[in-house]
Amino acid sequence: MWNHLDVRAYSAYMFAKEKLSKYLMFSFVKFNTSNKNIESFSCPICNYHGPFLNVRRRQEVCPKCSSVERHRLQFLVLQQLSLNYDISQMSILHIAPEPFFKRIFEKKFLQYVATDISRKKNIDCQADLLNLPFKSKIFDCVFASHVLEHIQDDEKAIAEVKRILKPGGMAILPVPIVSKKTIEYPAPNPYESEHVRAPGLDYFDKYRRYFKEVIVFDSKNFPEECQLYIYENRTKYPNKKAPLREPMEGEKHDDFVPVCLA
Ligand SMILES: [Zn+2]
Repeated sequence: MWNHLDVRAYSAYMFAKEKLSKYLMFSFVKFNTSNKNIESFSCPICNYHGPFLNVRRRQEVCPKCSSVERHRLQFLVLQQLSLNYDISQMSILHIAPEPFFKRIFEKKFLQYVATDISRKKNIDCQADLLNLPFKSKIFDCVFASHVLEHIQDDEKAIAEVKRILKPGGMAILPVPIVSKKTIEYPAPNPYESEHVRAPGLDYFDKYRRYFKEVIVFDSKNFPEECQLYIYENRTKYPNKKAPLREPMEGEKHDDFVPVCLA
């Protein structure tokens, strides 16, 4: 037989249990509903699947491997190129190396050389892209991502890249495409990471003057689920910090990877 105390304790227990399960159910529903609003993506580099992090931009960073939009696009372009080129038999010069890609390139290419103008650590040779200390026609591939927008005499740099490439070699030279047409700055802009220009799609015409062919890969060429677009409000230009920039419509912008064939 239960006494009064047992009954009261049992009722209190049942009440608490019901309250807890209601709370858990509510939390579960809330979690699922709130997660339904967060889009899930797939990272082609580390195979993570889930929401990407909004750091500087919306859906920018993969939380597992820390890749950003341009890394994922460049990685997919490299995968695409691997279908036609045996990169395991190729040499690569990596200019201003991102540690992220250094690890990948060292594994994928036969021979890997890293160079930077100022860094001394984790590179093979310190050198200026305007005057590379290499013989002509010795590399199969050159990779310099988001480098040329920092160099005033970029034509000289492009000519140097062409000089060290073997005939049939390729240069992967992406720059941020942030303008309808390229706008040259008279001096580096400290508010835009010391960029000396705002490149537009016409910027790749410069490459066409030095290389046989330039193939431009676009975010649109690859699966939407990899999130390869740049979410940025560019309607705010020109402004005090970027007085020469022109406005661009929309907040979702394509990214591009030009592959230049020597
Ligand atoms: Zn990842």
